[in-house]
Amino acid sequence: MFSFQDINEDNVSLRPEATAGIMRAIQENTLLRSNPILKVYTVGPMFRRERPSKARYRQFYQINAELVGDDSPYNDADVIVTAVSILKAIGIESTLEINSIGCLECRAAYRTALKDYLSMWLSSLCEDCQRRFVTNPMRTLDCKEDRCRAILGQAPLILDYLDESCRSQFEAVLGLLDLAGISYQVNPKIVRGLDYYSRTAFEFTTELLGQSKAIGGGGRYDGLLKSIGGPDVSGIGFAFGIERLIESMMRNISSDRSLVYIAALGEEARRVAFPLIQNLRKYGILTETRFSGSLKSQMKNADKLNAAFVVMIGDNELSSGEYTVRDMKGSEQIQIAADQVISFLSERCNFCLDKDAS
Ligand code: AMP
Repeated sequence: MFSFQDINEDNVSLRPEATAGIMRAIQENTLLRSNPILKVYTVGPMFRRERPSKARYRQFYQINAELVGDDSPYNDADVIVTAVSILKAIGIESTLEINSIGCLECRAAYRTALKDYLSMWLSSLCEDCQRRFVTNPMRTLDCKEDRCRAILGQAPLILDYLDESCRSQFEAVLGLLDLAGISYQVNPKIVRGLDYYSRTAFEFTTELLGQSKAIGGGGRYDGLLKSIGGPDVSGIGFAFGIERLIESMMRNISSDRSLVYIAALGEEARRVAFPLIQNLRKYGILTETRFSGSLKSQMKNADKLNAAFVVMIGDNELSSGEYTVRDMKGSEQIQIAADQVISFLSERCNFCLDKDAS
């Protein structure tokens, strides 16, 4: 955390995440009294004093959602399905990795077993993991160093240490995800960074961010609200990093060559191209053009932008009422009736976010 004294010598910490602050707001405003099951969301900047690197910033933005007041596994599944549908709506393919980190009792037994195992390899672990061995041994499980990963490959797994109630909760959540048709991978190495998590823990990763970076994650927390003086109720939530969502969306676009380029030649062609461009965009099809230049320079531009299709409109097309559409991948060129161009492209473009737009 960034923690410092301000000009009045007050101690200030910049929030690294939203859940704790939301719990404080719930408690201070007794929000659960009128809404025993409360669903809230926030969007805003977070601050973490960590080593900046690609897609890891010291100030970044998160979308955060929480459901507080009930620990039914239906809520775990419902919240996860909500997160999945957000990713789906913005066209990001991701993997849902899920685990149960048990309750305090399960974790105490597991921590002992993990420490026993790690103590045999302590001097071979990286410096960070040697520190984690003392402060929070479960965090060694998500170390990215090869030597630690090799050692942790044989480590005991939390799922073997769940008590009956945590196990049946986890199985119920997985069963409900099956029922909702959501695919997932059980990953017993997911621990989540913050101490207040219990039982369900999950992360979303995407290949779009290179080394399968997390775009979001969440989990259940028992006892967090109680620890700040509130009622003993549990909650579940998730957070997405907005920069990583945007980065994934951008990569999605370029890796699909998902752009349509309109090459209109002459004023009359531009007048029909102009509304066509607006309509294609309405359908969610990324559409680019340049309202000037020769066919050659426009084709060059289309190539530079990685266009998937180029629609050419010139004198011939205007008189025949059929536009020339070139598939830039296959280099085929066909004539399509002017009023069929949008449906032709939307059928071929897997990048249409909203095919039903009109
Ligand atoms: P966390 O609660 O740490 O799992 O964070 C939830 C999500 O916020 C992550 O999956 C990332 O998408 C994003 N995130 C976390 N830390 C950073 C950071 N330093 N820079 C950018 N995004 C981040």
